[in-house]
Amino acid sequence: MGKSIGGTSHGWSRLEEISCPRSYYYKYVLQLRQPADINLEIGTSFHAALAYRFGALRDEKEPSLAACLQAAEEVVTPDIYRSHVRRLVETYWEEWPLPEPFSVVCVEHEHEMMIEDAPFTGRLDTVVQQPDGRLFVLEHKTSGINPAYAHNFDLYLVDHQITGYAVLAEALLGRQISGVIVDLMYKGSKKKGKPDEYSGQPVAYRETFLRSDDQKADFRRQVVWMNRAIRHASTTGEWWCQPKSCHKYRPCPYAMLCQEPRRDPAELWLELGGKIVEEGGEEE
Ligand code: SF4
Repeated sequence: MGKSIGGTSHGWSRLEEISCPRSYYYKYVLQLRQPADINLEIGTSFHAALAYRFGALRDEKEPSLAACLQAAEEVVTPDIYRSHVRRLVETYWEEWPLPEPFSVVCVEHEHEMMIEDAPFTGRLDTVVQQPDGRLFVLEHKTSGINPAYAHNFDLYLVDHQITGYAVLAEALLGRQISGVIVDLMYKGSKKKGKPDEYSGQPVAYRETFLRSDDQKADFRRQVVWMNRAIRHASTTGEWWCQPKSCHKYRPCPYAMLCQEPRRDPAELWLELGGKIVEEGGEEE
């Protein structure tokens, strides 16, 4: 584990891994990546439908379900997923019919900022304003776990990823962000023996999570601290483990590598069906 890297630049998508320096090392130093799978395809396609819906609302137009379905279909690739994505978009539409109880301020906005000496970037799905004037980030998530049974909404009460969205939106707009509304689409469960197919009815959930100034200040400190920790690890080659991160949202893809510390991680990764992205290659 002696490979060093020079300067570091950490976007929000990387901060999820920054909670464990060892996973950062596997993903961004050794460039060990997972091949795209059905979940990524479905999430991207569903996201495109909602980006269309909220983009139209921002522009004070009335989006139609048909246009949202078309936006989703433009980015989904394999035909076998199309009908499932269609069901997700239709379910969302039935659960949250127009008009929305808020106005849309911005959609799919990429923003970069510095927090002390730490670069921090991220993409905001949507920022909305409620009738009382308060601003919220609206985040769209898809999940294979039904929150009605797994209580996985509880995670968001203290989740630092959504706090990060609030910090980013405050920097972007120069206004206070009261919290984050999480739209969570349960996709249904995977069919037994058919890992590429889903059964069961999708369900759309929406919950609002407030964020205090203290939580935002803690988040900023964490970004600064973890950026320094990563820079230190990159010069010493000591990429330490943070086992609290192993099962946060889903099992860490690098768990097998951590279990086999004497194997060459890149070799083992390839044996497990992973891939290695060359310098300057595709980025997730
Ligand atoms: S399995 Fe756990 S300790 Fe290992 S890289 Fe993943 S999060 Fe870090």
